[in-house]
This record gives sequence, structure tokens and C-alpha cells, in this order.
Amino acid sequence: MIDFSLRACSRHGHATFAPDEPELRERLHVTTVAGEAWRCLRCETFVVGPPRGSGPASTAPEVPRGKLLRDLAIMRILSVERGVRGLVIVLIGIGVIRIRGSHEQLQDAFNRELPLIRPIAEQLGWDMDTSKVVHFFIKAFSMSAETLLLIAVGLFIYAGILMVEAIGLWLAKRWGEYFAVVATSVFIPLEIYELSERLTLFRIVVFALNIAAVVWLVWSKRLFGVNGGAPAYHAEHAAESLLTVEHAAAREAAQA
Ligand SMILES: [Zn+2]
Repeated sequence: MIDFSLRACSRHGHATFAPDEPELRERLHVTTVAGEAWRCLRCETFVVGPPRGSGPASTAPEVPRGKLLRDLAIMRILSVERGVRGLVIVLIGIGVIRIRGSHEQLQDAFNRELPLIRPIAEQLGWDMDTSKVVHFFIKAFSMSAETLLLIAVGLFIYAGILMVEAIGLWLAKRWGEYFAVVATSVFIPLEIYELSERLTLFRIVVFALNIAAVVWLVWSKRLFGVNGGAPAYHAEHAAESLLTVEHAAAREAAQA
């Protein structure tokens, strides 16, 4: 736990903070021969130099713990999933652009490479005969340049949406939470349509995960006024900040 904090501090710097509340302030501050030192809210060591921030304790930087730390972990997982998906779609988009540029050579190359890739794909458990990506490319060879351009543009826009989602979720920004909910919801009708075409375990799992992600984000992050809305959201975070300061101050009192 402490190692975890120290690693975060060495990466982002110490989260020293001077609270306005005198009794908290006193406990987080010492005077050393090297000058004033403030207790880091994260790793709880005293750091010589001016505090990084100051103000009421409720505005202190949060050091995620408990529920908020767990929430952060879930959001990072969602972020990575979207980032990877976005990257794959960018690669497919680049593939489409290349097909558009040189139809014949690429079709030859594709037909030549496909049998070579097949054994590797089978080893990885990837069934190429039912693969949408492979079918998509086979179909793409027969499309006009304009159609391919439109498809590529569509793919890049979709990838862009996923990347914005990934960044917003990774940074745990409120706009990111809203963006993720809206962007994920927009594609739910498409997923329902896909499910109605053919039920596969993969589609069901993806669909269920996306529904769960939307419900979780709306409820846990109190979006659209749900579960107390923005006031409750900000109160929760202010309480967490205050708790962070009090936690660090209490540690000082316990050691004294
Ligand atoms: Zn620290």
C-alpha cells in the first residue's frame, strides 16, 4: 500500500497541501533546519519546501482510497478496452485506405497471405471463416473508391470517439464520464440489431458489458441528476478530500 503511494509520488510529485483550518494545518506542518516542510497527503512523508496547494481542506487534492480507488480502477479498465478497440479500428481504417489506393496488387497479396495466416490464426483460436474483419476486406475489394473512402472516414470517426472516451475515462474527468455514457448508448441500438441478426456468446457478452458500464457510470458517477446528481457528486469528492487531509493529520497525531 505504502509502496503504491511512493511510486505514485515519484511519478507525479508529492501531494503536499496547506489547509486553511488551523488545527489541521498545524498537524501537517513542521519547521526543519532546512526550512518549512509539509506532509504529503499520499505517502505521508514530510517534504521540505512550500506546499503544492492550499485552501480549505475540502479543496485538497484527493488521494483516491476505498470506493473512489475502486471506481478509478474500473474506469481505467474501461479506458484501456476503448483505447485498444479504437486502435484496432484505426488499423482497419488504414487497411481500407490502402485497398482504395491499389486494389489489384492488394487483392493478390491478400489472397496470397491469407492461407499463410490461417494456421497461425487457428492456433490463436481465431476462426477466420466467420471473422467479420476478413469478410469485410473480401467485400471491400469489390467496392468503389468513393465507398471505401466513406467507410474509412466512418471508421476514423468511430475510432476518434473511442479514443476521446478512453482519455476521458483514464483521466476520470466528469466530461469523460458523460461522453462515455452518451457514446456507448448511441451504439447500443446497433448492438441490439446485431444480436437480432445472430446471437453469439461474444455479442451477448459485449452487449451486457456495455449496458453494465452505462448503468454503473450513470449511477456511481451520479450523471444526469441520478443518485443525487452533481451536488452529491461534488459533496462526495469534497468529503473525500477532507478525509484525505484528516487522515494525514490523524496519522501525525497518532505518532506524536
Ligand atoms: Zn508523497
